Amino acid sequence: AIPLVIAVSTAISAGRGILIRNRESFENARDPDVVVFDKTGTLTMGELGITDVISFDPEMDEGEILSYAAAVESGSSHPIARGIVEAVAEVLPVENFNSLEGRGVMGHVNGSVVKVLSYGYTEELGFSISDPRVDELIGQAKTTVFVIVDDELRGCIALADMIRPEAREAVGILRSRGVRCLMLTGDSSAVAGWVASEVGIDDYMAELIPIEKYDEIRKLQEEGLRVVMVGDGVNDAPALVQADIGVAIGAGTDVAIESADVVLVRSNPLDVVDLMDLAAATYSKMK
Ligand code: ADP
Ligand code: MG
Repeated sequence: AIPLVIAVSTAISAGRGILIRNRESFENARDPDVVVFDKTGTLTMGELGITDVISFDPEMDEGEILSYAAAVESGSSHPIARGIVEAVAEVLPVENFNSLEGRGVMGHVNGSVVKVLSYGYTEELGFSISDPRVDELIGQAKTTVFVIVDDELRGCIALADMIRPEAREAVGILRSRGVRCLMLTGDSSAVAGWVASEVGIDDYMAELIPIEKYDEIRKLQEEGLRVVMVGDGVNDAPALVQADIGVAIGAGTDVAIESADVVLVRSNPLDVVDLMDLAAATYSKMK
């Protein structure tokens, strides 16, 4: 039988759009030491729109760059992919699509091998990105991805996102309660630094692949800390499973939701505070 206070709390929380999938984790949500936030789609809306397209190849115009990128991105559900696909009228078919786990995507389009990659991974593959236009976009804290067609770096696409309006308040409340806030992201450190400062987090790590997000959670736990992880994406799934309390943003992917203990249906970061309060109220009554 489910104790009455828990049944009541479950009903109250559901009314507020906080879905509890794992009751034991819910109990742990009373007094976390650290709340780890993913960036894109969690602290930000995850609705990216293209702001700029640059071609590095005189034989390929911006429209072609975008068209190749959109074809490959049609295989992905990442917010970057949605932003790019949305921007073209007609999406070319992609074959042999592959997701490169927090580094980008690749596939065959029109007989060419097309990759759309993060800044860090593009450099790791040996391409040198030296263009003042790119520096300017990065300076504006835009997310940039790089389009490689048949092993040549051809262009850059910049996208911008919006910070969730409640993110700053949520971080402020958590910190005032002595809860450490940390942001982990796969995006570049320029974008990460900007979002972190906007929401009031001074602790962040950028350019992480999914397994590195998971590792950071584990390291915190090894210090004896109780960790909440809040995320929305496929790339957050390992970290969500590892955290003491995995919290998925309702607007996120199915994979994130299935990996989480709690789902915030309203996608509002302030609901993390509500979750803590509700858990505290529920389990103090039981003692
Ligand atoms: P976050 O941690 O901010 O949610 P992700 O881990 O989902 O970010 O992605 C990290 C980085 O990997 C992105 O900033 C981007 O550079 C690259 N990336 C991920 N998915 C894609 C994609 N579909 N197309 C291009 N780049 C991608
Ligand atoms: Mg995300």
